[in-house]
Amino acid sequence: MFAALLLAATTVSAGAIGCGGHHIGARNLGMGNPHAKREYDPKALDVTAQCTSYNYPPVADILTQFPTNWAPATILPSDTAAQQLFSQLNQTLGQKVGNVQVKVGTQGDFSGYQYDNAADPDCWWTKTRCTEPKDTTIPADIWRLPEPNTWGFGFDDGPNCSHNALYNFMAEKKQQATMFFIGSNVMNWPLQALRAKQDGHELCIHTWSHSAMTTLTNEGAFAELYYTREAIKAVTGVTPKCWRPPYGDVDNRIRVIAGFLNLTNVLWSDDTFDWMEGTNNVTSETVVANYQKVFDQAKAGNYSTYGAIVLNHEINNKTMQHMIDQYPNIEANFKYIVPIASAMNWTTPYAEANETYPDFNQYTSGQREGGPVASGEGNSPGSTMTGSAAASASSADTSKKSSSTRNSAAGIFVLAGVAAAMLL
Ligand SMILES: [Zn+2]
Repeated sequence: MFAALLLAATTVSAGAIGCGGHHIGARNLGMGNPHAKREYDPKALDVTAQCTSYNYPPVADILTQFPTNWAPATILPSDTAAQQLFSQLNQTLGQKVGNVQVKVGTQGDFSGYQYDNAADPDCWWTKTRCTEPKDTTIPADIWRLPEPNTWGFGFDDGPNCSHNALYNFMAEKKQQATMFFIGSNVMNWPLQALRAKQDGHELCIHTWSHSAMTTLTNEGAFAELYYTREAIKAVTGVTPKCWRPPYGDVDNRIRVIAGFLNLTNVLWSDDTFDWMEGTNNVTSETVVANYQKVFDQAKAGNYSTYGAIVLNHEINNKTMQHMIDQYPNIEANFKYIVPIASAMNWTTPYAEANETYPDFNQYTSGQREGGPVASGEGNSPGSTMTGSAAASASSADTSKKSSSTRNSAAGIFVLAGVAAAMLL
């Protein structure tokens, strides 16, 4: 089974940009070598070995149902389910945010774009750090936690092919995190994404191509979220209900589109700027100092009434090693280190009601798996946007792509084939 097709990402070098403006693909060694193949070894620690492309039929078989890796996503001409859903969104989108302009900028840099920051009509975070739209029917962003003295623990830009050292470290510590995954990375490195789910990490969406969302058309923004959600569902079996915009670039138009897809926006309160190392004279010492600033805030009592959501990245081995190195300091300065779902008491963080997660009290008492939740009684990342229920059901209930279920007793994954599940 592992001999036929390759999951080589041949387009990855064509300008995919990371949070810091560098090329995301550059960190994924081996992706430029489509002829390499191997069996996935979850214990491998050698970076090159981990990042050698491998064949994974459940994903290879559905690649044509997804946009080109790392290219800004659009709805595929053959994808009638996505077209119908987008059409449904379009019926109300104009009424809600008809005056919001598509922004012009590159890689999250909008310095040349004229915008009325004082009035901030679009609640555009990039320019004003706005997180609460004046229109209260548009959901506010989450940027800090209700639990004091708590570090909201998570990583952007994964799954990184060479993440085993970090993931092994977290497993040893029985530490779970919130993973904001890029759809193209999930398709390139599905078994790394699967490991995250297997290890109990919370999965959220970080778009398909890591584009600045406010620069995209309505369809483009929809497709970036939709196909990442579909990729995570196809690979791990769960449908996330949370997301984070690359560069934090969100305005009311994007909030409405994400809300329609039942996605709650999770920003951050503190940034280690770990992704900047090696650029703009940012050194390893700078990143360490940035961590220390967060610790100093904790020492000063600034998290005595709420918890921090701290921005960290799975983007390369430097950023991951920083977290391993700093983890004891986080433990020393924060009472609790928890994934976002637990901090928010999201006991049912996915569209699949049987997928549960420990709440804050459970997690901080040592529980690492969610308990049973009566139907309809779990807490979810919430959106009350019109149409969101239908949007959610589309992915959760009619899995047109392959689905996976975890056989926890045997410790293996069973992946269903795609052909029999094809709809439409
Ligand atoms: Zn990012």
